Amino acid sequence: MDKYNLNYHLVWIPKYRHPVLAGEVATHLSDILHTIAEKGCRDTQLRDYAGSKLTLSKIGSIRIFKHREVEGKIKTSTIKKDNLGHWYAILISEVEDVSPIEPKTAIGVDVGLKSLVALSGGETVEYPRYYVMAEKKLSVAQRNLSRKKKGSANRRKAKAKVAKISQDVQHHRDEFLHQLSKMLVDSADLIVFECLNISGMLKNHHLAKHIQDHAWGKLIQFTQSKAAKAGKVVELVDARYTSQKCSQCSIMVPKTLAERVHICPNCGLEMDRDINASLNIRTLGLRGRAYRDTAKESAGQ
Ligand SMILES: [Zn+2]
Repeated sequence: MDKYNLNYHLVWIPKYRHPVLAGEVATHLSDILHTIAEKGCRDTQLRDYAGSKLTLSKIGSIRIFKHREVEGKIKTSTIKKDNLGHWYAILISEVEDVSPIEPKTAIGVDVGLKSLVALSGGETVEYPRYYVMAEKKLSVAQRNLSRKKKGSANRRKAKAKVAKISQDVQHHRDEFLHQLSKMLVDSADLIVFECLNISGMLKNHHLAKHIQDHAWGKLIQFTQSKAAKAGKVVELVDARYTSQKCSQCSIMVPKTLAERVHICPNCGLEMDRDINASLNIRTLGLRGRAYRDTAKESAGQ
């Protein structure tokens, strides 16, 4: 097997927090980091990586904080500064692909209008309350910033506050999306999502849409990487009409965005509109796989 997955790892470099960076080394390191900051991202050669130390070419040995253990062989590393002035090393490692298992169970995931996701098993998942609170705090801080005079000290302070809160929001969201994607991968062998670009714009128009789109993309990305490690499969399907179609008898049941419940005049099915959509997404995913398998077989003959 020479197929690999690339894994991304982020490690925090506590620039001013450790004795190893004091004195001459610190001056040297901060000079280099400054150069990198001006030029943006820059690749450095990884010399060594052991325990809590990272040795990079042109930089030397630096102490790091790991969020999790790095799996596989590290291929490249990049040093990056975020807008709060924290330094990170991004390590990319290669992990051997797990041979895919034959999917026996499937789950469809729909991006909900009210909740974050609706699952074909009948559950819906909401954002945790702390995340919603943090988002509110962020919008207050942003409004506050927009009222400050350009070039003023208050504006600078308000800007720093926005940056701090938005990083908190991002961390909370990522943590939650990691849990959710793990739950999805644990629950089925085939996980079917709607493809964002095709259906996203058609489906809803509420204010926080761009934030939700971003979370959606990340959820798919996290699920894909976890699925690859478990030998499971993620399918993306064109989800046009999935909210209109009846998941039981396939007739079109047009509904407005305000209608929360799918009620089929043909077969009598009555259920939450997003759950109905997730069932359609699951069907599309299974059908897509079956079609490709048939195509592969006939091409092989
Ligand atoms: Zn029906």
